[in-house]
Amino acid sequence: MVKKELNSMDLNELKDYMESMGEKKFRAEQLFIHFHKHNRLSIDDLNVLPKKLRERLKVDTNINKMEIYKRFDSKVDSTKKYLFSLEDENIIESVSMEYKHGTTICISTQVGCKMGCTFCASTKDGRVRDLTPAEMLNQIYMIEKDQDISISNIVLMGSGEPLDNYENTLKFLKIIHHEKGHNISYRGITISTCGIVPKIYELADENIPVTLSISLHSPFDEERKKMMPIAAKYSIAEIIEACKYYESKNNRRITFEYTLIEGVNDRQEDVDELSKISRSINSHVNLIPLNPIKEYQKDRPTLSSIQRFEDSLNKKKVDVTVRREMGSDISASCGQLRRSVIE
Ligand code: SAH
Repeated sequence: MVKKELNSMDLNELKDYMESMGEKKFRAEQLFIHFHKHNRLSIDDLNVLPKKLRERLKVDTNINKMEIYKRFDSKVDSTKKYLFSLEDENIIESVSMEYKHGTTICISTQVGCKMGCTFCASTKDGRVRDLTPAEMLNQIYMIEKDQDISISNIVLMGSGEPLDNYENTLKFLKIIHHEKGHNISYRGITISTCGIVPKIYELADENIPVTLSISLHSPFDEERKKMMPIAAKYSIAEIIEACKYYESKNNRRITFEYTLIEGVNDRQEDVDELSKISRSINSHVNLIPLNPIKEYQKDRPTLSSIQRFEDSLNKKKVDVTVRREMGSDISASCGQLRRSVIE
């Protein structure tokens, strides 16, 4: 039998679990605070808990741990990329980026990914497995400990599709936000999806006002299908409807991510159609110049064509930014680091 993962449980689950063991409910809160406020990964030093209970928990449950396998420090800015080794020896990657308002951590939600976007390294070996809530939380806790910082901004933009690991992602969000844990505002969290429409509706109904970011990459369904298999399942119109619903529920501006690829999606007709889409909803476009990977032999646009694309959108009154390249010397976008190691 797979043991329960103690640091993946939200407070209610922990309370139910303590009750089922014949323990007092307040023990749940002591455990929760120990894991999620104080970043602890062992209960040996949780002296307020009776020794007998600690011993029993150590036999009956698992406390998920992971190790820093490797850290890459950028020399051009303070970006750091981490490879973590999980209990089953799978490797995942996370990134910390320093901005004026503080450090943002980008985490993975799955080992690998099954969504098959042509230009993305994370998906090239498929999805290995989902990450548990504790494995998502530990990426943050480990980086905080490593750098002796507390962060308030998180993006779910590493490897994996968060809405394809919906239950665990939701639990992760609730735990990291909990006032007795890290107490991170939902407004400081962005969840990025390739556009799994039914899950966008589900998320909208959860009352969790995180920023929703849609990986659009083309304003035309037919072009999008060539880049992203998910586009064959859900049209752009369906995504926009779902985004409107999300916005109505959460009052959050939607972000459209647009990986800019030379000669593929950087034409005037792309500008025209993208601006229609963006203006149809309270939104913002984030251009990500392609980080070429060896399986996708297309080019990153030149600085001047990125500028031209941005200017053309600006002229059409689209709110647009270009993602600043962080840690360009340790580049490796989404999944490239992990692959370089497992290969
Ligand atoms: N599965 C989620 C989140 C992970 S990817 C999603 O699809 O949104 C985070 C963002 O990086 C996505 O917009 C993705 O399309 C983009 N991305 C992936 N590989 C890239 C590459 N090689 N160059 C530029 N952007 C890339």
